Amino acid sequence: TKDSAKGFLRRNAFVLFTITAVLLGIILAFALRPYKMTYRQIKYFSFPGELLMRMLQMLVLPLIVSSLVTGMASLDGKASGKMGLRAVVYYMMTTIIAVFIGILMVIIIHPGKGSKDKLHREGKIEQVQTTDAFMDLVRNMFPPNLVEACFKQYKTQYSTRIFTRTILHSSNVTAGSTANSQASMPENVTGTLENVTRTLRSLQEVLSFEETIPIPGSANGVNALGLVVFSVCFGLVIGSMKQKGRALQEFFSCLNEAIMRLVAIIIWYAPVGILFLIAGKILEMDDLAVMGGQLGMYTLTVIVGLLIHSLCVLPLLYFIVTHKNPWVFIAGLLQALITALGTSSSSATLPITFRCLEENNGVDRRVTRFVLPVGATINMDGTALYEALAAIFIAQVNNFELDFGQIITISITATAASIGAAGIPQAGLVTMMIVLTSVGLPTEDITLIIAVDWFLDRLRTTTNVLGDSLGAGIVEHLSRHELDAQDSELGNSVIEEN
Ligand code: ASP
Repeated sequence: TKDSAKGFLRRNAFVLFTITAVLLGIILAFALRPYKMTYRQIKYFSFPGELLMRMLQMLVLPLIVSSLVTGMASLDGKASGKMGLRAVVYYMMTTIIAVFIGILMVIIIHPGKGSKDKLHREGKIEQVQTTDAFMDLVRNMFPPNLVEACFKQYKTQYSTRIFTRTILHSSNVTAGSTANSQASMPENVTGTLENVTRTLRSLQEVLSFEETIPIPGSANGVNALGLVVFSVCFGLVIGSMKQKGRALQEFFSCLNEAIMRLVAIIIWYAPVGILFLIAGKILEMDDLAVMGGQLGMYTLTVIVGLLIHSLCVLPLLYFIVTHKNPWVFIAGLLQALITALGTSSSSATLPITFRCLEENNGVDRRVTRFVLPVGATINMDGTALYEALAAIFIAQVNNFELDFGQIITISITATAASIGAAGIPQAGLVTMMIVLTSVGLPTEDITLIIAVDWFLDRLRTTTNVLGDSLGAGIVEHLSRHELDAQDSELGNSVIEEN
């Protein structure tokens, strides 16, 4: 009937706008591609998209802190302990399954054939030690300066510095040999040169390298891991202070409410932003020929792995635990998933994920407030799958036989690397260093896969966001007894607060 059609349109307006925006963006970009716009023109063109990215990032810091503090403070110790444990078990379990799928796919499909005339390498490059990388991860959990943690992304004492040196070194090598003899280069390497420089530039924007000159205006990230650890502890302490902590609890709860209202405004702009983000990226991308051959097979392997995890494993797990229809739940998430695809950042998507889960799927706020910020920071199934798969691909290209022990090592380090990766574009590429180093693979071979990383990054980010969201649904279901108990204990006060 007319009324129900209207109701459907109203309820799904944003999703419809967003899907239309994606399609329009793709059409527009392919229509404009023949005009070969310059880098600067493309930057102007995608400016509305850049603005969306900045608006979302603007909300992330207050959103993470306020939702975690309120979430932890409003749960009693026992309930939050149980919920935390369930969430962590879910994160670990799904990440390990993802790694397993990645490894299985790359072994079965075997996209990398050992190429004898490998990329020419000069000299010995200093390698990151796995322990250094692990220590960096733990260091970041305890930022010595909270204010600095609010504007400095994942800060490294050691590994990033070596990473830049390695990558810069190998891109010089690539540049040099391209000039000398294009013919002797594997096709995908010459094609990627421009992409290497571009990725370097974006990596520089993303991480504040200690040895490079920061690009002005780039320090827009946060050390989410450190802030998550702090906020969880802070919230728990406020909760335990009972009446005395009341004022602070109310402050953060009010802050959280206000931020969510800002999200409700920005969401109107999201389709426009996504249109230009996607169109801009398609305009920027290299000729699709780069994707031919080995690199194409590799891309396909990653896509198959991500699809199996996102469309089979996660929905099945959701169904087994909750006995509810996973597709209905996922339909409510569409806007967040498309935003993830458009921004390649799970932390920039976080505000939208919150809104989708709370407004469309009716997930309890006490759950989302805890599960989503933590999930967006440490639970990255797509990244874990990708890192394990990519490492083995690099081994295959190098004719490097991996024994069972080394494959286990890759699984463990890929899990750690996905935890350490910030929810920002292409962060996974940086933490790949840990995985490659752990089994002695050449870290500069990251350049082999840089050409397609911008694309795979979008897909794995979407899987990351899906994993966090289904996790919230699962944890809510498992925690319903505690939540109900708390509801009846607190009576109306909870309802008022929420
Ligand atoms: N871009 C991903 C994310 O935000 C992280 C990665 O590079 O894998 O979830």
